[in-house]
Amino acid sequence: MNNMKLIFEKGNTNRGLDLMPECDVPVTHVSAGYERKKELNLPHVSETEISRHYTKLVKRTFGVNNGFYPLGSCTMKYNPKINNEMAGLPGFSDVHPLQPIDTVQGCLEVYQLADKYLGKITGMDAMDFQPAAGAHGEFTGLKLIRAYHQDRNDSKRDKIIVPDSAHGTNPASAAMAGFTVVNVPSTEDGFVDVEALRNAVGEDTAGFMLTNPNTIGLFEEHILEITSIIHEAGGLNYYDGANLNAIMGVARPGDMGFDVVHLNLHKTFSTPHGGGGPGSGPVGCKDILVKYLPTPRIIDNKGMLAFEDKNEKSIGRVKDFYGNFLVVVRALTYMMTLGSEGLKDASENAVLNANYMLHKLKDTFDIPFGNGRCMHEFVMSLEELKKEKSVSALDFAKALLDYGMHPPTMYFPLIVHEALMVEPTETESKETLDEAIEIFKEIYNKACNDPDAVHNSPTTTPIGRPDEVRAARNPILRYNF
Ligand SMILES: *Cc1c(COP(=O)(O)O)cnc(C)c1O
Repeated sequence: MNNMKLIFEKGNTNRGLDLMPECDVPVTHVSAGYERKKELNLPHVSETEISRHYTKLVKRTFGVNNGFYPLGSCTMKYNPKINNEMAGLPGFSDVHPLQPIDTVQGCLEVYQLADKYLGKITGMDAMDFQPAAGAHGEFTGLKLIRAYHQDRNDSKRDKIIVPDSAHGTNPASAAMAGFTVVNVPSTEDGFVDVEALRNAVGEDTAGFMLTNPNTIGLFEEHILEITSIIHEAGGLNYYDGANLNAIMGVARPGDMGFDVVHLNLHKTFSTPHGGGGPGSGPVGCKDILVKYLPTPRIIDNKGMLAFEDKNEKSIGRVKDFYGNFLVVVRALTYMMTLGSEGLKDASENAVLNANYMLHKLKDTFDIPFGNGRCMHEFVMSLEELKKEKSVSALDFAKALLDYGMHPPTMYFPLIVHEALMVEPTETESKETLDEAIEIFKEIYNKACNDPDAVHNSPTTTPIGRPDEVRAARNPILRYNF
């Protein structure tokens, strides 16, 4: 049961490969030097074997369709099937990026509509859909900030200020975009230390990146003061909106003093994720930054939508072609089926569900920040349990697997020790939440009374505990034939 064969290890090459259809177009040969030197290594399996192989893999995969998946910061909400139905329409899924522009007017309209709605939701003047993920959006947004200062001959501004409660990608993206990262600490309550921020700004401040709600699930209380400190110092404000699930339809980064924002369509806007993609991390910005956005931009040319490529001030392309289009189709479908009231409801219920769980768990678990309140997620600390019973956050997460539940995010954010970050999302019923709450409490009791049982979990999964250090240090990412 445990060692599943790869599909290449199945079948029998002597039996022949009869799944490849006959070629039904004229055969052409590739240019000299580009021909294949060896026979293509395809699995020689029957249709039955293929079907069984993938069914087996499906059984070993855990997704939102299998059970509760409260993976904090990742917004593992249910992805309505209508999104996929729309993305599967041949007019969307069978287009080629180089086909004549008059044949893809509907696709361009999808981008235009998504631009309009997301602009409304974020309070931004324009959106760009090239970035393929959240971190990619951050990189793009920071390049806009860089272009803005350079265009004003203000090139000494090379520092981006990032609070220590930011998502880990924030400092990484700032460094990738060529900035020096300045960290500001959090207060004891988990908010940006406004005084420390005041001391950190100066003539070298290019901008500030805020993850809001921050990684402990709190909405920054002094947000307007924070953004004006940066503006007064001559910097721009960047909003990490990957986790917009708490504020969508309720509050807008554009109204809070932010100049640029990215969203993760693959989180808040209900398109499937996990397993590495495809994602979409559109960037929105205020008027002052529009001229630096990546090209091409979609323009309306006398009733015909077209791409415009000539923009001297643009930071250029950040991705080939026009972004992960079908993800945008799914997100647009989501916005159109929910409407503005529905989107607001989704956020309010996401916050309600998180607070319900927090409230029911706070007497058993240590929830160090938020005074018993949170936005769309909350973070608990198992430091005590670790100290007293040597049951760590990792042990706890592994024990959850035996209950058919995906664990919360572990050991993040770094400012909470033995952290478990729980994000239930709005698409779970009260019954599911109640069941999860009972499971959390049951494991807690087990950890107190029989810690070894927790140390030995999981026992019901195909593999127990992989060697994580080895997996991280010596990953085998490629199959050697
Ligand atoms: C998920 C996340 C990101 C990164 O998004 P990717 O698509 O994984 O690159 C950035 N910031 C926050 C707050 C996130 O939750």
